[in-house]
Amino acid sequence: MKQLCILGSTGSIGVSTLDVAGRHPDELRVVALTANHNVERLAEQCAVHRPAYAVVVDPAQMAPLRGLLEARGVRGVEILSGTGGLEQVASLPEVDTVMAAIVGAAGLLPTLAAAREGKRVLLANKEALVMSGPLFMSEIRRSGAELLPIDSEHNAIFQCMPASYRAGARAPAVRKIMLTASGGPFLRTPLEALAHVTPEQAVAHPNWVMGRKISVDSATMMNKGLEVIEACLLFNLSPAEVQVVVHPQSVIHSMVDYVDGSVLAQMGNPDMRIPIAHALGWPERVDSGAEPLDLFKVGTLEFVELDRTRFPCLPLAYQAVQAGGTAPTILNAANEEAVASFLDRRIGFNAIADTINHCLDAVPAGPATSLDGVLAADEATRGAAAHYLNKVAIG
Ligand code: NAD
Ligand code: MG
Repeated sequence: MKQLCILGSTGSIGVSTLDVAGRHPDELRVVALTANHNVERLAEQCAVHRPAYAVVVDPAQMAPLRGLLEARGVRGVEILSGTGGLEQVASLPEVDTVMAAIVGAAGLLPTLAAAREGKRVLLANKEALVMSGPLFMSEIRRSGAELLPIDSEHNAIFQCMPASYRAGARAPAVRKIMLTASGGPFLRTPLEALAHVTPEQAVAHPNWVMGRKISVDSATMMNKGLEVIEACLLFNLSPAEVQVVVHPQSVIHSMVDYVDGSVLAQMGNPDMRIPIAHALGWPERVDSGAEPLDLFKVGTLEFVELDRTRFPCLPLAYQAVQAGGTAPTILNAANEEAVASFLDRRIGFNAIADTINHCLDAVPAGPATSLDGVLAADEATRGAAAHYLNKVAIG
C-alpha cells in the first residue's frame, strides 16, 4: 500500500491525481491534501478520500475548512496551515510518495522537504526544479529519493529509457532527446496580432486543459523553455542534447534518440492521468481511466521546426540554462511575475518575454547550490521585474 501526500490537490494535476488514486483504493491511501484558497474543493476531496491531514496556506482559512468538514460529517482530519504545514505533510514518516503539484516557486520548500526526506517524489511542479536545479538534484542524490517525472514530456522520456534507469543519472547511449511541443494557441496567429491577444485567448490551449499559469507558459513557449531546463537536470544532458520539435497533435509525448539510430517514442491521448498513473503505479502499470489511443481517429502526425522569432521565450531559456547557476532561477521568477501581470491585464503578451530578457540582463546570477542563494536570486528578480512591469504597464 502506497501512502500518498498531494501538494496542490485542488489544481488540475491534483484533481487528476485523485481521480487515478480513487481507482486504486487497495493500493493507494491518501494521507494528506493541500490547497491555497479553494477550501470548498479541499473539503469535498476530504469527504471522498478521508486523508489524515489537510493543509490550507492561509491560517484564516482553517476555521472555514473546519466548518465545511463538520457540515459534511467528516471527522479525524487534522488541519494545518502555512508553508510549515506544507513542509510537515511532505515529510510525514507515514508518507512514502509525494505528488508535487503546487504551481510555481511556492512549491519549492515542501517539494525540497520531500526530496530531503527521501520520499518518492512525483514531480509536476517544474518551477521548483528549474529554480533550484543543482541544489534540488543534490538533495535527491544525497537522500536516495526516487524522482519520477509527471510532466508528460519527461515522463515519456523516462518511459523510453532502460528499465534500470533512474532520474539524475546520465542515460547510456543517448544521442539526444526530442521534446515535443503542441505549439499552443498562437502557433499560426499573425505575428502582429500577438501584441493584442487576451488572457482568455492565451489560456485556451488546443489540446490540454491545465491551470492558468502553465497555459500562458504554453502560449509563450516558456513552458517548453522550462521543460528544456527540466530535461537537462532530470536526464543529466547538455542543452545541445535537448531538441524541441513542434508536433501539433500532442500524441507523441517525447522521444529518445539512441546512438544506433533507434528513436523510441511514448504515445497516448493528451490526458495527464496517463503520466500520473505511470508514476503512481511504477514500476507496475495501473489503469488511468484515459481513453485508449485511436490512431485512425488521429490520422496524421505532423512535425514542424520551431519559429524562434514567434517564440522568443525559448531562446531565453536556452540562454539561462547555458549560463547556469541561478540564471534559471532568474528566468523562472521573471516569468512568474510577468505572467501574473499579463493575467491581471496589466501588460501585453509580448511584454512577458521582454520582462524576462530584462531580468536576465539586470540581475546578476550566482551559484544555485544553497537555498539562501536560490531564494535571494528569486527575490532580487521579483523586485527587478516589478520595476520593469510598472514601466511597461498598459495605460
Ligand atoms: P493549478 O493552478 O490548476 O493548481 C495549482 C495548485 O497549487 C492548486 O492546488 C493551488 O491551491 C496550489 N497553489 C497555488 N498557489 C499556491 C501557493 N502560493 N501556496 C501553496 N499552494 C498553492 O496548476 P496545475 O495546472 O495543476 O499545475 C501544477 C504544476 O504542475 C505546475 O508546476 C505545472 O507547470 C505542472 N504541470 C501541469 C500540467 C497540467 O496539465 N496541468 C502538466 C505538466 C506540468
Ligand atoms: Mg509538459
